[in-house]
Amino acid sequence: MRTLLTARHVLGHENGRHVLIPDGVVVFEGDRIIHVGRDFAGEVAVRHDFGTALISPGLIDLDALSDLDTTILGYDNQPAWEKGRIWPKSYMDRGPYEMYSPDELSFQKRYAFAMLLRHGITTALPIASLFYRAWGETVGEFESAATAAADLGLRAYLGPAYRTGNTFIHEDGRIDCHYDEARGMAELDAAIAFCRAHENTHGGLVRTMLSPDRIETCTPDLLRRTAAAVRDLDVPVRLHCCQSKIEYELVLKQHGMSPPEWLESLGFLSPRALLPHGSWVSGSRGLDRPGRDLEIVGEHGASIVHCPLVSARGGRALDSFSKYRARGLKMGLGTDTWPPDLVTNMQVGVLLSRVADGTAVNTRATDYFDAATIGGADALGRPDLGRLMAGAQADITVFDLSHPLIGQVIDPIQTLLIGGSGRDVRDVFVAGRHVVRGGALPGFDLGAAHGRAQAQFDGLVARYPERTWKHPPVEAIFPPSYPPLTDAGYSPSPG
Ligand SMILES: [Zn+2]
Repeated sequence: MRTLLTARHVLGHENGRHVLIPDGVVVFEGDRIIHVGRDFAGEVAVRHDFGTALISPGLIDLDALSDLDTTILGYDNQPAWEKGRIWPKSYMDRGPYEMYSPDELSFQKRYAFAMLLRHGITTALPIASLFYRAWGETVGEFESAATAAADLGLRAYLGPAYRTGNTFIHEDGRIDCHYDEARGMAELDAAIAFCRAHENTHGGLVRTMLSPDRIETCTPDLLRRTAAAVRDLDVPVRLHCCQSKIEYELVLKQHGMSPPEWLESLGFLSPRALLPHGSWVSGSRGLDRPGRDLEIVGEHGASIVHCPLVSARGGRALDSFSKYRARGLKMGLGTDTWPPDLVTNMQVGVLLSRVADGTAVNTRATDYFDAATIGGADALGRPDLGRLMAGAQADITVFDLSHPLIGQVIDPIQTLLIGGSGRDVRDVFVAGRHVVRGGALPGFDLGAAHGRAQAQFDGLVARYPERTWKHPPVEAIFPPSYPPLTDAGYSPSPG
């Protein structure tokens, strides 16, 4: 059964790059695109005319927000270590425990997957925080995540995050590390078994990956064994590194090498390695250390996973996206924080790159659009994703450009990065399945899920004092933006 999509703007692909086709068509049969062009003479069973819209390749999120985001709690509440982002020793000593029930864990993945699709993301590599976990993620929750991805129709690379270590903070403010190598190795074994059981299931929609959590929570043996498993299983591996100054300096102190130097020495780097966030590297602002960090990443063909929104909220940017590209580094994008919106991330990214460069001339909207599509696909070794062309997977995102708030459309990509957002996604197809229709997900009640997510989030926030340095009350960890109205109760009218 063939389906034909048409709209005012179609982003096709020719000679290795995206091309714009005015009033173009995309035709797919089953999960494959069979034709992209100006028109189509063959028979089709179904037609959708999206009018003033952009038919785009589905977006690829290499660090896809997959929980109820806790980093947003730090937006105005800094520094992070004082606001529950590093476990106090007292919490470590009492024995960390799961703050969510298995049912709540599985709900938040399903909810997050629905939100990713609603924002036009068709391929996702989920990331979640471990701050509210007993230790790593569990196989059980990822089994239910595989079911959720298949139910909703999201293309996902899944693998429970694991670790051998944890940073914590002493009563006097010193930051230290605790290691439990046996626990982390057992989690790695479980993650490998998960890959073997779930790789290429649900008609190829579900793939797997290895997810050691963050470089500073991994011992050398865990990373060596992970690298061996990556070669053996031939799956992608994602590791947070070069993400913060604290992490960079900790790795230097512990191993006498920078994060990329250390990873290279362990044989960890390869074209399968995906590295969020790459913003603290030798020679970058605030790091007084010469070195070859970016050359090392590039020489091994690893990809940088760039998440401009979360980095900017933390006061950091790549220096710069345009310079990383000019070096030939492989660059993909990730959301990593709420909203799971790669359009917003692209917008913020263009601006940060221009500010970092001190000029607008080196960064274009298309540079970011390439990273969100072709860059992500290349990072995963998937020439059948990230482009609309015959033979590719029918992973398609349709952006509505017809509403008055979009402003004047001169060019669909530039317009999207000037005045659009993920909220403008109206329809999404993954592997040919129509998974978002007019902003709604068939079989998933976004409104009900929103209410449940808020209640679950409120419950988590209420337990923050247990995991926060010196255990202050919630109101002191997350004070309101403005003080509440005083007990006097009313404000007299002026005059
Ligand atoms: Zn991240």
